[in-house]
Amino acid sequence: MDCEEVKENLFGGFCNCGSVMRQRFWAKSDELEILIFECEKCWKNEALIFKNRTYINRIPVKTRKD
Ligand SMILES: [Zn+2]
Repeated sequence: MDCEEVKENLFGGFCNCGSVMRQRFWAKSDELEILIFECEKCWKNEALIFKNRTYINRIPVKTRKD
């Protein structure tokens, strides 16, 4: 799966905490595209999943903190 960082500061919606989420990167495979968002305040991550360029689902993303 290819990963592509979003270099621009693109708006990605609002987090549950009320702060703004920014687009962080795209992960792409043959038919799936996953856009990862990160909250500016609480660093929560969410992902939007697209299949064949159609929106499928929005899911929370667990990030490991080692
Ligand atoms: Zn937040």
